[in-house]
Amino acid sequence: MLSDDQLMRYSRQLLLPQFDVAGQEAVAAARVLIIGAGGLGCPVALYLAGAGVGELLVVDPDEVDSSNLHRQVAYRERDVGQPKAEALAATLRALNNDIVVTPYVRAADGDWLAATLPGVALVLDCCDNFATRSAVNAACHAAAVPLVSGAAIRLEGQLVAFDFRDPATPCYACLYGDGDGPDTLCSESGILGPVVGTVGTLQALMALRLLTGHKVDGVLHLFDGATLQWRQMALRKDPACPVCHRPTRLTPDGGKH
Ligand SMILES: [Zn+2]
Repeated sequence: MLSDDQLMRYSRQLLLPQFDVAGQEAVAAARVLIIGAGGLGCPVALYLAGAGVGELLVVDPDEVDSSNLHRQVAYRERDVGQPKAEALAATLRALNNDIVVTPYVRAADGDWLAATLPGVALVLDCCDNFATRSAVNAACHAAAVPLVSGAAIRLEGQLVAFDFRDPATPCYACLYGDGDGPDTLCSESGILGPVVGTVGTLQALMALRLLTGHKVDGVLHLFDGATLQWRQMALRKDPACPVCHRPTRLTPDGGKH
Protein backbone atom coordinates (compact mmCIF):
# COMPACT_ATOMS: atom_id res chain seq x y z
CA MET A 1 0.00 0.00 0.00
CA LEU A 2 1.57 3.26 -1.13
CA SER A 3 1.45 6.35 1.08
CA ASP A 4 0.35 9.76 -0.22
CA ASP A 5 4.01 10.85 -0.25
CA GLN A 6 4.97 7.81 -2.30
CA LEU A 7 2.08 8.34 -4.72
CA MET A 8 3.39 11.86 -5.29
CA ARG A 9 7.06 10.93 -5.39
CA TYR A 10 6.63 8.14 -7.94
CA SER A 11 3.71 9.72 -9.81
CA ARG A 12 5.49 10.06 -13.16
CA GLN A 13 6.28 6.36 -13.39
CA LEU A 14 2.94 5.37 -11.84
CA LEU A 15 1.29 7.09 -14.80
CA LEU A 16 2.72 4.46 -17.13
CA PRO A 17 0.31 1.57 -17.75
CA GLN A 18 3.39 -0.71 -18.08
CA PHE A 19 4.45 0.24 -14.53
CA ASP A 20 1.46 1.38 -12.49
CA VAL A 21 0.85 0.74 -8.77
CA ALA A 22 1.55 -2.97 -9.18
CA GLY A 23 4.97 -2.18 -10.66
CA GLN A 24 5.75 0.24 -7.84
CA GLU A 25 4.85 -2.34 -5.23
CA ALA A 26 6.97 -4.94 -7.04
CA VAL A 27 10.08 -2.76 -7.11
CA ALA A 28 9.52 -1.67 -3.49
CA ALA A 29 9.51 -5.33 -2.43
CA ALA A 30 12.67 -6.21 -4.39
CA ARG A 31 16.20 -6.76 -3.11
CA VAL A 32 18.71 -6.07 -5.89
CA LEU A 33 22.47 -6.69 -5.91
CA ILE A 34 24.78 -4.34 -7.84
CA ILE A 35 28.26 -5.73 -8.53
CA GLY A 36 30.64 -2.82 -8.99
CA ALA A 37 30.19 0.84 -8.05
CA GLY A 38 31.98 2.34 -11.06
CA GLY A 39 30.89 3.90 -14.34
CA LEU A 40 28.09 1.36 -14.84
CA GLY A 41 27.14 0.88 -11.20
CA CYS A 42 26.67 4.61 -10.53
CA PRO A 43 23.84 5.23 -13.04
CA VAL A 44 22.33 1.81 -12.31
CA ALA A 45 22.20 2.53 -8.59
CA LEU A 46 20.99 6.13 -8.96
CA TYR A 47 18.09 5.17 -11.23
CA LEU A 48 17.07 2.14 -9.18
CA ALA A 49 17.17 4.14 -5.94
CA GLY A 50 15.22 6.93 -7.61
CA ALA A 51 12.60 4.45 -8.83
CA GLY A 52 12.11 3.15 -5.29
CA VAL A 53 13.69 -0.31 -5.44
CA GLY A 54 13.26 -1.36 -1.83
CA GLU A 55 16.68 -2.76 -1.01
CA LEU A 56 19.97 -2.23 -2.81
CA LEU A 57 23.15 -4.16 -2.02
CA VAL A 58 26.29 -2.57 -3.48
CA VAL A 59 29.62 -4.43 -3.56
CA ASP A 60 32.97 -2.98 -4.67
CA PRO A 61 36.47 -3.37 -3.19
CA ASP A 62 37.91 -0.08 -4.51
CA GLU A 63 38.22 3.53 -3.40
CA VAL A 64 37.20 6.58 -5.39
CA ASP A 65 40.11 7.96 -7.45
CA SER A 66 40.25 11.34 -9.16
CA SER A 67 40.52 9.51 -12.51
CA ASN A 68 37.04 8.04 -11.85
CA LEU A 69 35.23 11.37 -11.60
CA HIS A 70 34.71 11.94 -15.35
CA ARG A 71 32.40 8.92 -15.61
CA GLN A 72 31.37 7.71 -12.15
CA VAL A 73 28.60 10.23 -11.74
CA ALA A 74 27.60 9.48 -8.15
CA TYR A 75 30.91 10.80 -6.76
CA ARG A 76 32.19 14.28 -5.95
CA GLU A 77 35.75 15.50 -5.32
CA ARG A 78 35.22 15.11 -1.57
CA ASP A 79 34.71 11.35 -2.07
CA VAL A 80 38.23 10.74 -3.44
CA GLY A 81 39.93 8.19 -1.18
CA GLN A 82 36.63 6.88 0.23
CA PRO A 83 35.45 3.30 -0.40
CA LYS A 84 33.18 3.44 -3.44
CA ALA A 85 30.51 1.18 -1.98
CA GLU A 86 30.15 3.43 1.08
CA ALA A 87 30.28 6.70 -0.87
CA LEU A 88 27.66 5.40 -3.29
CA ALA A 89 25.45 4.17 -0.44
CA ALA A 90 25.56 7.64 1.16
CA THR A 91 24.49 9.25 -2.13
CA LEU A 92 21.66 6.76 -2.61
CA ARG A 93 20.35 7.32 0.93
CA ALA A 94 20.38 11.08 0.32
CA LEU A 95 18.42 10.51 -2.89
CA ASN A 96 15.82 8.19 -1.36
CA ASN A 97 15.48 7.74 2.38
CA ASP A 98 12.62 5.30 1.79
CA ILE A 99 14.91 2.47 0.72
CA VAL A 100 17.53 0.29 2.43
CA VAL A 101 21.08 0.44 1.05
CA THR A 102 23.82 -1.93 2.21
CA PRO A 103 27.42 -1.38 1.07
CA TYR A 104 30.04 -4.16 0.97
CA VAL A 105 33.67 -3.06 0.62
CA ARG A 106 35.03 -6.28 -0.82
CA ALA A 107 35.27 -8.34 -4.00
CA ALA A 108 32.30 -10.45 -5.07
CA ASP A 109 33.80 -13.94 -5.12
CA GLY A 110 31.95 -17.23 -5.53
CA ASP A 111 31.53 -17.99 -1.82
CA TRP A 112 30.26 -14.51 -1.00
CA LEU A 113 27.85 -14.60 -3.96
CA ALA A 114 26.48 -18.01 -2.97
CA ALA A 115 25.84 -16.74 0.56
CA THR A 116 24.33 -13.44 -0.59
CA LEU A 117 22.09 -14.46 -3.50
CA PRO A 118 19.25 -16.15 -1.54
CA GLY A 119 16.46 -13.56 -1.39
CA VAL A 120 17.97 -11.40 -4.15
CA ALA A 121 15.50 -10.77 -7.00
CA LEU A 122 17.99 -9.54 -9.57
CA VAL A 123 21.73 -8.99 -10.05
CA LEU A 124 23.33 -6.22 -12.09
CA ASP A 125 26.85 -6.98 -13.22
CA CYS A 126 28.61 -3.64 -13.42
CA CYS A 127 32.12 -4.93 -12.75
CA ASP A 128 35.29 -4.34 -14.74
CA ASN A 129 37.01 -7.73 -14.83
CA PHE A 130 36.43 -11.14 -16.35
CA ALA A 131 37.04 -13.19 -13.20
CA THR A 132 34.23 -11.43 -11.31
CA ARG A 133 31.98 -11.53 -14.38
CA SER A 134 32.44 -15.32 -14.63
CA ALA A 135 31.82 -15.84 -10.91
CA VAL A 136 28.67 -13.71 -11.04
CA ASN A 137 27.36 -15.57 -14.09
CA ALA A 138 27.93 -18.99 -12.51
CA ALA A 139 26.44 -17.96 -9.16
CA CYS A 140 23.34 -16.39 -10.71
CA HIS A 141 22.82 -19.45 -12.92
CA ALA A 142 23.16 -21.81 -9.95
CA ALA A 143 20.73 -19.74 -7.85
CA ALA A 144 18.30 -19.10 -10.77
CA VAL A 145 18.54 -15.33 -10.22
CA PRO A 146 18.15 -13.06 -13.29
CA LEU A 147 21.30 -11.21 -14.36
CA VAL A 148 21.68 -7.98 -16.30
CA SER A 149 25.24 -7.64 -17.50
CA GLY A 150 26.90 -4.52 -18.92
CA ALA A 151 30.38 -3.61 -20.14
CA ALA A 152 32.05 -0.64 -21.82
CA ILE A 153 35.51 0.27 -23.04
CA ARG A 154 36.81 3.03 -25.33
CA LEU A 155 33.73 4.07 -27.36
CA GLU A 156 32.06 0.67 -27.25
CA GLY A 157 29.44 -0.75 -24.95
CA GLN A 158 27.35 -3.87 -24.63
CA LEU A 159 24.54 -5.20 -22.49
CA VAL A 160 22.61 -8.41 -22.17
CA ALA A 161 20.07 -9.88 -19.75
CA PHE A 162 19.79 -13.53 -18.75
CA ASP A 163 16.65 -14.68 -16.98
CA PHE A 164 17.99 -17.79 -15.26
CA ARG A 165 14.53 -18.63 -13.90
CA ASP A 166 14.05 -20.11 -17.40
CA PRO A 167 16.34 -23.18 -17.71
CA ALA A 168 16.49 -22.72 -21.50
CA THR A 169 18.19 -19.33 -21.22
CA PRO A 170 21.84 -19.12 -22.36
CA CYS A 171 24.49 -17.63 -20.04
CA TYR A 172 27.51 -15.37 -20.22
CA ALA A 173 29.84 -18.35 -20.54
CA CYS A 174 27.93 -19.55 -23.63
CA LEU A 175 29.13 -16.31 -25.16
CA TYR A 176 32.61 -15.83 -23.74
CA GLY A 177 33.56 -19.07 -21.99
CA ASP A 178 34.55 -19.10 -18.33
CA GLY A 179 38.34 -19.10 -18.61
CA ASP A 180 40.73 -16.46 -17.36
CA GLY A 181 40.87 -14.18 -20.39
CA PRO A 182 43.00 -11.02 -20.26
CA ASP A 183 41.01 -8.00 -19.09
CA THR A 184 40.78 -4.91 -21.27
CA LEU A 185 41.04 -2.13 -18.71
CA CYS A 186 39.74 1.43 -18.84
CA SER A 187 43.02 2.47 -17.18
CA GLU A 188 44.90 1.24 -20.27
CA SER A 189 42.43 1.57 -23.16
CA GLY A 190 40.39 4.59 -22.08
CA ILE A 191 36.66 5.24 -21.85
CA LEU A 192 34.34 8.18 -22.44
CA GLY A 193 31.91 8.84 -19.61
CA PRO A 194 28.69 9.03 -21.67
CA VAL A 195 29.43 5.64 -23.29
CA VAL A 196 29.52 3.82 -19.97
CA GLY A 197 26.63 5.99 -18.77
CA THR A 198 24.54 4.89 -21.76
CA VAL A 199 25.08 1.23 -20.98
CA GLY A 200 24.46 1.65 -17.23
CA THR A 201 21.27 3.62 -17.87
CA LEU A 202 19.94 0.85 -20.10
CA GLN A 203 20.89 -1.78 -17.52
CA ALA A 204 18.70 0.11 -15.07
CA LEU A 205 15.88 0.16 -17.62
CA MET A 206 16.19 -3.61 -18.18
CA ALA A 207 16.18 -4.10 -14.41
CA LEU A 208 12.96 -2.12 -13.96
CA ARG A 209 11.34 -4.09 -16.79
CA LEU A 210 12.36 -7.41 -15.24
CA LEU A 211 11.28 -6.38 -11.75
CA THR A 212 7.84 -5.39 -13.05
CA GLY A 213 7.24 -8.76 -14.67
CA HIS A 214 8.24 -8.09 -18.26
CA LYS A 215 10.25 -10.53 -20.30
CA VAL A 216 13.77 -9.69 -21.44
CA ASP A 217 14.85 -10.49 -24.95
CA GLY A 218 17.94 -12.72 -24.60
CA VAL A 219 19.79 -10.56 -27.10
CA LEU A 220 23.29 -9.09 -26.93
CA HIS A 221 23.08 -5.34 -27.57
CA LEU A 222 26.27 -3.74 -28.91
CA PHE A 223 26.72 0.06 -28.93
CA ASP A 224 29.16 2.06 -31.03
CA GLY A 225 29.64 5.50 -29.49
CA ALA A 226 31.34 6.86 -32.63
CA THR A 227 28.31 6.33 -34.88
CA LEU A 228 25.55 6.01 -32.24
CA GLN A 229 24.61 2.72 -33.91
CA TRP A 230 23.32 -0.32 -32.07
CA ARG A 231 23.66 -3.91 -33.27
CA GLN A 232 21.80 -6.89 -31.87
CA MET A 233 23.02 -10.47 -31.77
CA ALA A 234 20.66 -13.31 -30.92
CA LEU A 235 22.18 -15.62 -28.31
CA ARG A 236 22.06 -19.37 -28.33
CA LYS A 237 22.71 -21.76 -25.51
CA ASP A 238 26.06 -23.50 -26.11
CA PRO A 239 25.53 -27.26 -25.69
CA ALA A 240 29.17 -27.48 -24.51
CA CYS A 241 28.92 -24.53 -22.09
CA PRO A 242 30.92 -25.29 -18.91
CA VAL A 243 28.39 -23.42 -16.74
CA CYS A 244 24.86 -24.06 -18.01
CA HIS A 245 24.91 -27.21 -20.16
CA ARG A 246 24.27 -29.57 -17.26
CA PRO A 247 21.06 -29.51 -15.27
CA THR A 248 21.65 -28.74 -11.60
CA ARG A 249 21.01 -31.84 -9.50
CA LEU A 250 20.75 -32.24 -5.79
CA THR A 251 22.76 -35.14 -4.39
CA PRO A 252 21.63 -37.09 -1.31
CA ASP A 253 23.98 -35.02 0.90
CA GLY A 254 22.24 -31.86 -0.33
CA GLY A 255 25.25 -30.56 -2.24
CA LYS A 256 24.88 -29.28 -5.76
CA HIS A 257 26.78 -30.95 -8.60
ZN1 LIG B 1 26.10 -21.18 -20.73
